Amino acid sequence: MTLSIRWKVTIGALLVLACGLLIARALAVRSLDQQEIVQSGQILEAQTSLAAYGLQPFLTQPGALSSTPQLQAAVRDLSARALARVTLIAPDGRVLADSAVSDSNLATVENHRARPEIQQAMATGHGTDLHTNHTTGERTLYLAVGLSGANQANPAVFLRLGLPMTTFDHEVAKLHRDLAIAFGIAFLIAVVLSVWLAHSITKPLSDIAIAAQQLAKGDLAIRIRTGSRDEVGLLADTLNHMTDQLRAKIDELSEDRSQLLAMLTSMVEGVMVLDRRGRVLQVNPALERMFEVTRTEARGHHCSDVFRHPQLDRLVSTVLATRMNEEDEILLHPSGRRLHIEASATESDRENEASAVLIFHDMTELRRLEIIRKDFVANVSHELRTPLTSIKGYIEALLDGAKDDPETSTQFLDIILKQSDRLNLILDDLLQLSKIESGQVQFKREPLHIQSVVERTLAMIKPLADKKGHRLVSSVKGNLPAVLGDEDRLMQVLSNLLDNAIKYTPEKGTITVAARPILDDADQSATPTAVELSVTDTGLGISEMDRPRVFERFYRVDKARSRELGGTGLGLAIVKHIVEGLGGRVWVEANTPTGSRFVVRLPVQQEKTVI
Ligand code: ADP
Repeated sequence: MTLSIRWKVTIGALLVLACGLLIARALAVRSLDQQEIVQSGQILEAQTSLAAYGLQPFLTQPGALSSTPQLQAAVRDLSARALARVTLIAPDGRVLADSAVSDSNLATVENHRARPEIQQAMATGHGTDLHTNHTTGERTLYLAVGLSGANQANPAVFLRLGLPMTTFDHEVAKLHRDLAIAFGIAFLIAVVLSVWLAHSITKPLSDIAIAAQQLAKGDLAIRIRTGSRDEVGLLADTLNHMTDQLRAKIDELSEDRSQLLAMLTSMVEGVMVLDRRGRVLQVNPALERMFEVTRTEARGHHCSDVFRHPQLDRLVSTVLATRMNEEDEILLHPSGRRLHIEASATESDRENEASAVLIFHDMTELRRLEIIRKDFVANVSHELRTPLTSIKGYIEALLDGAKDDPETSTQFLDIILKQSDRLNLILDDLLQLSKIESGQVQFKREPLHIQSVVERTLAMIKPLADKKGHRLVSSVKGNLPAVLGDEDRLMQVLSNLLDNAIKYTPEKGTITVAARPILDDADQSATPTAVELSVTDTGLGISEMDRPRVFERFYRVDKARSRELGGTGLGLAIVKHIVEGLGGRVWVEANTPTGSRFVVRLPVQQEKTVI
């Protein structure tokens, strides 16, 4: 069990105090005792001299050294006067007279020769000792001196005075009691004081400890409040200051982190961070989409295990080994995505730290556009070269002599004119397409009556249809919602579709123009969101394989036939661009039993406008 500081301080203070009190008591009693012994010794010294003087007659008389009742009486008398026990001891240790012993018992008193004070007196003529009296059981201070007899030679007898310390001992015992009570009271006061003191010292400390625990749990709003201005107050202020700095640092870091995260998240490029062993530390959402992996699947695993792309593995190994920047382009299967990778080594080469950063640029669209551009250039050159070659050929034939034959020259010049018109047509279509693509053509967005657009276009195209004996049918009703669009452009779309229908339908076919409102799938009761306009013919039809491609530039199902019919291969590409520019969609379906159906879906005006 660990004691709290409060208890350590309290118990420590009390132990020190208790020891101090006990030592003080012992020292006080000892010094008092010593003082008393010295004083008593001096008194005893004086009394012994007096007693020796009182015994002088006995010493000078012959036979004085035997135990007589007179001697015993004299000793008792001296004892009463000196208030001390008086004993006379023969040099052989026999007790000759003793004031504390009755006459009858004197013979039985034990030999005193071995007593320390007698031993000293025998040796030096003067001996003292403090011991408990065998007879009375009291602590007694003894002084023994040798008294000379008549011949003044060796001591004839030893006089010993014993001063009982009873009164003093009682006083000392009383002092002990008084001191015990006083110290007991002092101790109690000390207990209360030290508990209070310990509390006042440790309270701010335990407040700091609680606050530090809260801090450790992440509560950085905590403030330590202490009124003290001592070291504890200083500690609290320092901790508060530290917390403020920590909070500011954490705020700064989390701001940086969220900015970094926002950057990584919003980046179109994929980003991957690897440690020095090639393990994935971080990937951004763009990379997750590119490789169709989640961050959880990728993080902590080796790059080669996650992506399984040998070319990528090689690039990573090279960068990690050489610590030089590298780049490469990889192809993903089965998505067919082309990714350009820029891999750079970072400064750090420590465990679990970013060691390499890889940026993935999706080049799929760029590469596709490059191919389209190349194809387009090749197609344009080819399309332009065909009429030009023909024109050149006929001009050379004319120069070689055909010009001299009026019939042939007229025929050749006619062909040259036709081919020039064709060149013109191609250039016109190309120009128009390029203008739409580059955004130079501004589409109007006004409410249009589909029925009137259809009627006007049909009227315009009718002579062409009549030439081939086609039947033109319109089933467009007047109650359709207005679409948002550009009238001239919509007429161009419709005339291109009708022109194709006439061209690619053998004579005496039927060409139908229809229109219907389209309701929102989710809410059938709402007003239509779009109008579908369709041109159906009973002609050659388009195979399923060719259908998605007929809207590409210069794509023709039957090149020779198209050219023969005067097609440029750009009509449907123009249709697609215009429809998409108007916010709609166009596609082709098969018509049963024969022919094709081109469908244009255009969004309606938001307000409820019924024509
Ligand atoms: P073109 O000038 O050759 O008609 P388009 O872009 O208008 O060029 O059409 C592309 C190709 O789509 C045509 O060459 C033709 O093969 C095919 N096509 C277009 N409309 C029809 C149709 N109504 N029926 C059959 N094939 C068609």
